[in-house]
Amino acid sequence: MYDLIIIGAGPAGLSAALYASRAGASVLVLDGGAPGGKLNLTAEIENYPGFIKKGPELAYAMFEHCLSFGAKYEYGHVTSIKVDENQKIVCVDEKEYSTKYVFIATGTKERKMGIPLEEEMTGRGVSYCAVCDGPFFKNKDVCVIGGGNSAIEEATYLSDIANKVHVIVRRDVLRADQYLIDKMNKKENIELHVLKKPHSIEVVDQKVSGLIVEDSLSGELSTIETQGIFPFIGLDPMTDFVKDLGIVDEFGYIYVDNNMESNVKGIFAGGDVIAKSLRQVVTATNDGAIAGQYIASLLK
Ligand code: NDP
Repeated sequence: MYDLIIIGAGPAGLSAALYASRAGASVLVLDGGAPGGKLNLTAEIENYPGFIKKGPELAYAMFEHCLSFGAKYEYGHVTSIKVDENQKIVCVDEKEYSTKYVFIATGTKERKMGIPLEEEMTGRGVSYCAVCDGPFFKNKDVCVIGGGNSAIEEATYLSDIANKVHVIVRRDVLRADQYLIDKMNKKENIELHVLKKPHSIEVVDQKVSGLIVEDSLSGELSTIETQGIFPFIGLDPMTDFVKDLGIVDEFGYIYVDNNMESNVKGIFAGGDVIAKSLRQVVTATNDGAIAGQYIASLLK
């Protein structure tokens, strides 16, 4: 039996692993993707104190650091957690692991636009990761959907690769931080389209050729010629596998107390997957550190 199983190897999970294993706990980290979580999809990390570099570099450094204190890592998709008095059983595909404590750090997944052909054209012009797929659009025209930090940051990143970047915003206000908006405004090849919503996708020869947008006020449709569509319209928590435990709020985020413990004793959570106001690398590492240290203290 492990002392602690961590589900999700992003900054929250890796920080919990570091703190708990350094304090002597036996720790297993499980993830269905590459260690580092969303750091791997982030070009520049500009607001993690003392570190201004590429996301994947920070992901790799955090992973190496957490393994150096003895935490183990395995690839796998967790399907459910069973709770009994003395242990928790973490079910992963066909395997089961038993543990005293669980820390859930599964983060969030990208919200879909829900327009015709979005799913069919994913990987053929529609992409949710500018860092991964941006280079396919060198000197082409792309659309970025959304006015939050993700959309504005990724539009700025894509403007260095693409010929032109259209930013499609459904209201006439951007949610993004002013610093990111100022940075975007310096780019001459970014055009902002406010009060426009994505309506449907035009396809020629199995490739995206245009985005039809709807005017938010008049409902009028118009077409923007584009080869790439990058929706960054928000995120949803990855908590389907714990929906029977009664630990999530109406939006699917996990409620935790000051020690990052949910209302099921022994099940902790942290990072983007919990109900909180600021989702950042620095707040995720904070959550992981608090949980890791507290769980280690319970083992003594
Ligand atoms: P946000 O929820 O902050 O923004 C989503 C954007 O998409 C909004 O402009 C929203 O419009 C728009 N939108 C939502 N649904 C639709 C739709 N169906 N059609 C068209 N547009 C839509 O999400 P983000 O992913 O940008 O950010 C998530 C969290 O991560 C935030 O807390 C953010 O601050 C954080 N983050 C921080 C970064 C940083 O600090 N460097 C970088 C990236 C993310 P509306 O405003 O009208 O709702």
